[in-house]
Amino acid sequence: MYHHKLPDYHCPYCNQLMNGTLSTDGKPQPPQPGDLSCCFRCGGALQFDANLKPSLLCADDWNALTDEMRDALVEMSESIKGAHHD
Ligand SMILES: [Zn+2]
Repeated sequence: MYHHKLPDYHCPYCNQLMNGTLSTDGKPQPPQPGDLSCCFRCGGALQFDANLKPSLLCADDWNALTDEMRDALVEMSESIKGAHHD
């Protein structure tokens, strides 16, 4: 996992303070606009906007994803949620 530091931001779902991302594909690169992420606390699905601010995914954003991306995001989100509820 590659850790990339970001300016402090708060999860738009649960208000968790976050200041970095972990790349799940192992590529040592910072997030790009349009990249997907999840809050590590609540598992909320996020997408980086043009300013690399994580924003909520609206229905149109979900529809724009490929099935593969959607599945990966849901899987990541579910595993985060599951980790806190076991
Ligand atoms: Zn959250």
